[in-house]
Amino acid sequence: MADFHIAVLPGDGIGPEVVDAGLAVLRGVERQLEAVRFTTEEFAVGAREYLRNGHPLPAATVECIKAADAILLGAMGLPDVRWPNGVEMTPQIDLREQLDLYNGVRPIRLYHPSHSPWRGREPGSGGEPQVDLVIVRENCEGLFSARLTPRAAGRDFETDTMTITRHGAERISRAAFRLAQKRRRHCTLVDKANVLPSMAFFRRVFDEVAAGFPDVRTERVYVDAMALFLVQRPQDFDVLVTENMFGDILSDLAAGLVGGMGMAPSADLGDEHGLFQPSHGTAPTIAGKGIANPIATILSVALMLEWLAHPETVRGARIIESAVARVLANPANATSDLGGKLSTTEMTARIIETIETMRSAGPIRSELADPAGTG
Ligand code: ATP
Repeated sequence: MADFHIAVLPGDGIGPEVVDAGLAVLRGVERQLEAVRFTTEEFAVGAREYLRNGHPLPAATVECIKAADAILLGAMGLPDVRWPNGVEMTPQIDLREQLDLYNGVRPIRLYHPSHSPWRGREPGSGGEPQVDLVIVRENCEGLFSARLTPRAAGRDFETDTMTITRHGAERISRAAFRLAQKRRRHCTLVDKANVLPSMAFFRRVFDEVAAGFPDVRTERVYVDAMALFLVQRPQDFDVLVTENMFGDILSDLAAGLVGGMGMAPSADLGDEHGLFQPSHGTAPTIAGKGIANPIATILSVALMLEWLAHPETVRGARIIESAVARVLANPANATSDLGGKLSTTEMTARIIETIETMRSAGPIRSELADPAGTG
């Protein structure tokens, strides 16, 4: 019996609600798997933890979760809970840096045309644009890297620094190329190389890495143009790789193409640790109402099972993805963000019921390049 220890961090806002849904699905799929067991251990993090104990991400908790086989996170932070100097807390970014989770994998997939802003519009050849792409976001440097640098008080200017190292640009480019090799073999660098020297450097390193992947078609697109192209022709893209801040912005834009933040899962991967969470935040305005869309978290659980890389967990990932696709193929199965009426628990129950009818799932393409965690 393979026993996987999962650290569970529900966090704040809708975090606990969607994590409950993700865990219920994990238990549902566990019943379908052979010789695999998941042991979960919950840890308190986030804004509520700060109010209780003075820190949103206690060092002792970080040490405990490092020992887990994988980490499942809801969302952290509440708008009114800030450090005494008024600065917003960023425990999710801190955690990525502390665990060196440099490879932010954000799959974006349209499950039903009714979820898309294109619904009702027939593009030229008929049918809806198909959206099936992955944003690979560099998580540990870029424009976020110097945000914790102490600043002198009373200045009438402030600066932020875009840091791109060779090490960082090489490893994220390699991760993106490896992922593209498992998908449609197309990798697009998103940068601002026409204006920023840091971005021109990123492009040089990307080009060097590209030379080692002659089977992958490459493109280089400026970030402003990519914002346009993602809206106009998202079907033309497969894997997009970009720095931290651009990845942050484009992944919200891309989530909007497939139904919103409730549809966007993510995996933050390092060479030693993997953290899985919906791309969305704590959505405080809908917290406690039971209406949050759990799909992003449930698909993040599927990414986690794939990354754990045991034959049975990989089968479990495929079962979850197939069940989500089957449930969402019926547009009546929708939470309010998708224009439907299902509650969080009703949507979760439909997915679990579908999992229970599935002894085996058909082949589904991989979302992760190196499930064993080498990025
Ligand atoms: P952060 O800065 O932490 O990313 P945010 O406040 O920018 O958070 P979200 O919390 O992700 O953004 O919310 C953005 C919008 O998406 C809000 O309108 C929110 O209600 C909605 N939203 C986010 N997650 C979900 C979900 N799971 N189900 C339904 N709506 C959601």
